[in-house]
Amino acid sequence: MGLELFTNTTIQSLFVLGSGILGFIIGALVYSRDVRKVDGISFFILAWAFSMWAILLGLFESVGAGNLEYFFLNTMYIFASIIPPAVLFFATALSSGKKVPFSWQKILIAVASFVLMSFVVLSPGFLFKIIESSNTAAKEIIFGQGIFIFIFYISWYVVMSLIVLFEKYKKSAGIFKKEIQYIFLSILACAVFILFANLVLPYFGFYDFFWIGPAIGLLTAGVIGYLIIKYNFWSLKLAATDLFTSLISLTLLFELTLYSSKTDLAIKILILALVLLAGFFLVRSVRNEIENKEEVEKLAKELADVNTNLHRLDEQKSKFVAVSAHHLRDPLTAIRGYSSLILEGSFGELSVATKEAMNRISESSKRLVVIINDFMDIAKIESGKMDYVFSKVDLKKIVTDMMNEMTLAAKESGLELGFEFDETQNYRVNIDEGKIRQVVSNLVDNSIKYTPNGSVKICLRKKSDGNILLSVVDTGIGMNPETVKKIFHKFSRADEASKFHTGGSGLGLYVAKEILKKHDGRIWAESSGLGKGSIFNLELKEA
Ligand code: ADP
Repeated sequence: MGLELFTNTTIQSLFVLGSGILGFIIGALVYSRDVRKVDGISFFILAWAFSMWAILLGLFESVGAGNLEYFFLNTMYIFASIIPPAVLFFATALSSGKKVPFSWQKILIAVASFVLMSFVVLSPGFLFKIIESSNTAAKEIIFGQGIFIFIFYISWYVVMSLIVLFEKYKKSAGIFKKEIQYIFLSILACAVFILFANLVLPYFGFYDFFWIGPAIGLLTAGVIGYLIIKYNFWSLKLAATDLFTSLISLTLLFELTLYSSKTDLAIKILILALVLLAGFFLVRSVRNEIENKEEVEKLAKELADVNTNLHRLDEQKSKFVAVSAHHLRDPLTAIRGYSSLILEGSFGELSVATKEAMNRISESSKRLVVIINDFMDIAKIESGKMDYVFSKVDLKKIVTDMMNEMTLAAKESGLELGFEFDETQNYRVNIDEGKIRQVVSNLVDNSIKYTPNGSVKICLRKKSDGNILLSVVDTGIGMNPETVKKIFHKFSRADEASKFHTGGSGLGLYVAKEILKKHDGRIWAESSGLGKGSIFNLELKEA
């Protein structure tokens, strides 16, 4: 036996054998260096199946006709059948942490399909037959119908693996996204090449390219192995720095041998020592930088996830508020309707005490309507469903229209209400009339609410930059500077305001601010301090 067995050894068959051995070494190397052990193990199994396939192919090609060729080829196809499930296992295990998401069903399917393929391989003549060429010593493989099952088997596993990788690609971030992208492309390219070179072309009688499969396989194993090691804890940039420093150091080391004098040698040694030191710090700083970047990327992704979650919750909350507010409004309409009918005496004369009680019911229900409307507005604003219909309107007209109602309210509170504007001017603005009315009425209502005595004045004027300014000036309880800063926030009320007027919700000004934002306008408050009155300003662009 011995060497006489390998009478057919060619450069190609040796190359294929070598690819197999190298593939195995790469697998073992990655396994020994990988911190994420599952990636390493799954890659090792893949590299092992690949190398066995290539080695057996090389052996088959090397042996002379009639010598163990069926044994080598059968075993080779058995190992080839391990590769596709191994690819899927690798894709599933990749970056999955320490635990591999196994399921017994998946393992059962993999084993069953492997057993089936073994039958396909071992049924004589079904997958292949070997014929000896009469004129040369070469052997030729003729494929049978089994080849279609084989091609389907490989394609199915490759497609599944690519789907798994794609899902991971979508979920990952930063350099892991890149790693998975490269692995995806490598596996796709490798599968296409091997299918063509080792199955499709031989089926049509072109057998000369059998060595391409192992070559591409080896290349892919190299690329993936490199990616796993480098991306996991080194990254490409670091590898480049590593390589660069090593190359310079090696060159300098070589230079040492070419010294011309002792001084020259000393200088060269010094330079080498400095380069080594600098290289060490360079590699270390790049590694730190990369580790920090990875950490930041990971945190950013986590933050983005939390943010999306919060947005979803916020949306659900807004929906809930909108729906509940809607349901609260209907019974309130009935309460308001009946209380005003009772107050008007439609159900008979009322005693003074009953009238007082009914008045309170009526007032409270009015307040409740305002609060519910604010809630509904907020829900709409936050879900982006607040509709605006813009038109050009004169602010002077809007305020004049509202004056009657507001004067009545002011009078009831014993206040004087004034409106100052220039008759000759027009104060045209492009606004959603209903919403700006709501804002102005809210400001005047507030001023009436928070002014125990004195006056409330509305002033309209055109600023020098052309903008229109509407101010509501009162002589009321005023605000300290902290209050001025926060009253436009949701649910924000000053302590003094709560003492003075218990029924407020702290929502009106927040809604007003949001409405003004959509108008490209501005709303703000001023006050000289507690007890010194307040000014609420509303600024809009002239239309
Ligand atoms: P509410 O009036 O229902 O509390 P708003 O959002 O309209 O809600 O007002 C928020 C807070 O701003 C009030 O609670 C009050 O502290 C303060 N505020 C509003 N208008 C005035 C005003 N004219 N004078 C003094 N404080 C005011």
